[in-house]
Amino acid sequence: MIEVNQLSKSFNDLQVLQQIEFKMKAKEIVVLLGPSGSGKSTLLRCLNGLEEPDSGTIRMDDVTWNANMAKSAKREAIRRIRLMSGMVFQSFHLFSHMTVLENITMAPMLVKNLSVKQAEELAERLLVKVGLLEKKHEYPSRLSGGQQQRVAIARSLAMQPKVMLFDEPTSALDPELTSEVLQVMKELALDGMTMIVVTHEMKFASEVANRVIFMSDGAIQEEGSPSQFFVQPQTERARRFLRQLG
Ligand code: ADP
Ligand code: MG
Repeated sequence: MIEVNQLSKSFNDLQVLQQIEFKMKAKEIVVLLGPSGSGKSTLLRCLNGLEEPDSGTIRMDDVTWNANMAKSAKREAIRRIRLMSGMVFQSFHLFSHMTVLENITMAPMLVKNLSVKQAEELAERLLVKVGLLEKKHEYPSRLSGGQQQRVAIARSLAMQPKVMLFDEPTSALDPELTSEVLQVMKELALDGMTMIVVTHEMKFASEVANRVIFMSDGAIQEEGSPSQFFVQPQTERARRFLRQLG
């Protein structure tokens, strides 16, 4: 489903991603771990077309983006990759002047030409999935952080992505609200969604991930199953990272 080759990215003089390479199958759940500043968000943003890599290749399903392609071909590849990948951020970025239902129906109507009725049926189905149907006419400010993040997930799912990218989706939430969001993500994983998740929730990582990728200093240092990684990390960097988590 995803194949990344030789992906590099700098901001000015700072090399943030160095020759990143990995592959993912459909329905795989990868948890991306690493210290703050190691390049996790930048990697997700590259995969979603929010940042442009300096070099390398990203293939997502049947679309390939390569740094050497012509500008117009790159733009078209990014457009298609964006449609295929949903992204959920730490801060929920809901539209505050729209109801829950409007937040979810807007993009499918604009981008996928769904009718109001089709978009609302889809939104209601997704709200059932995230357990928030009764909130459909509320504004985001009237919801808890956990509820807002569940709406953000539903909004992302409404575009029917093939891959979901989560960047620390629970880091802005109080602990008691974290579990309701993780539960929704777990169910999504069970439904067969392909997911890359940046998180500090190690219990989630060990229960849900098929594979852990550990990054530090802009490079993938090691990867393995959660049981390998958490029990027998291969690199000193990973051991230090896990010790610091306590
Ligand atoms: P992580 O998500 O693992 O904490 P990031 O990908 O956010 O790491 O950041 C990696 C490095 O890139 C950091 O040193 C950060 O300061 C830098 N960085 C990220 N985005 C930008 C940007 N838009 N401009 C300049 N530097 C950036
Ligand atoms: Mg980050």
